[in-house]
Amino acid sequence: MQMNMKAAILSGTKKINIESINKPVPGKNEILIKLKTCAICTWDQRAYNGINNVLFPFIGGHEMFAEIEEVGSGIDRAQWDVGEKAAVGLLSMCGHCHYCEIGEEGICSNHDYNKIVGGLPYPGTGGFSEYLVVEPHNLFKASKTLKNEKGAFAEPLSCVIHSVNKIDLSKAQNALVIGAGTMGILHLLLLKAKGLSVFISEPNERRRSFAVKLGADEVIDPVNEDPVRKIKDLTDGRGADVVFNATAVLDVAKQAIEMVAPLGTVSFYSSIYPKELIEIDPNWLHKKMVSITGSANSNARDFQNAIDMISDGLVDPSPLISNVIPFENIRDAYTASMMPDNYRTILKF
Ligand SMILES: [Zn+2]
Ligand SMILES: [Zn+2]
Repeated sequence: MQMNMKAAILSGTKKINIESINKPVPGKNEILIKLKTCAICTWDQRAYNGINNVLFPFIGGHEMFAEIEEVGSGIDRAQWDVGEKAAVGLLSMCGHCHYCEIGEEGICSNHDYNKIVGGLPYPGTGGFSEYLVVEPHNLFKASKTLKNEKGAFAEPLSCVIHSVNKIDLSKAQNALVIGAGTMGILHLLLLKAKGLSVFISEPNERRRSFAVKLGADEVIDPVNEDPVRKIKDLTDGRGADVVFNATAVLDVAKQAIEMVAPLGTVSFYSSIYPKELIEIDPNWLHKKMVSITGSANSNARDFQNAIDMISDGLVDPSPLISNVIPFENIRDAYTASMMPDNYRTILKF
């Protein structure tokens, strides 16, 4: 018998409604998961506000934490059984391109947010629905006692793990994180867990003191002091060994390059919006031996690392939970998530 479930359908810019759709049924080698939590990320806000191009009707949400509801035939129940909890990886990777084959599915050549995933009737990342059908490789096991709200941070933390692990930190003593939003703070927590001194540059005073509370060694107010001079003062004139830009602002991206030490690395973690260019002097790169890189998304190893670090308490994302709102009230949740002082709004199913 066909059962129904609820999903949040984005049918146009700023038009989202909870609707009843068919509940998916797991086939051979598939697992039916029941979503426990899903956070609203900046990407989802951009889809909602019409900045990211999505195909309507669209089902967003990708920072998912779930419980196994039912397993299809062929699933090893010693590995995956009903009631177990797991973070859910990105479902829209193709699994067979060059990058998927070398275990770097975060840069999948065929990645498309407008794919249909999870047994849903509409395109999207799928997390704003009560149930999804996935394959075992999409799931990353969590301890059964992990709080559902914390589990929703596996995806953003996996992206930050990817960003940090991409860089050789063996000679780095310090790191500068520009921007103390959710992703900036997750960089701070992870870099502190790795034993580095971490500086934060952030114009918002409340966010600066939040960063100090969470372990930032120094904070920079880029509006009232010259951030380039300040970082040099803090580092014997060298600059930061690693600079992560976690803001979407072009001028900050330019400044990030001026703030790095010789032999250091600048990583463009955030995408820049609107899309514009910056100039780089090749002779400066040549002489200072600076590396410039970027990072987006994550892979299966990063996901497992992330959920393990959260389960073991090595990274505690709890301070980033601004509000927990029932899934049915997703419109209120969007409004809350876009308030200026918000970190993460978590939808609870
Ligand atoms: Zn996200
Ligand atoms: Zn691929």
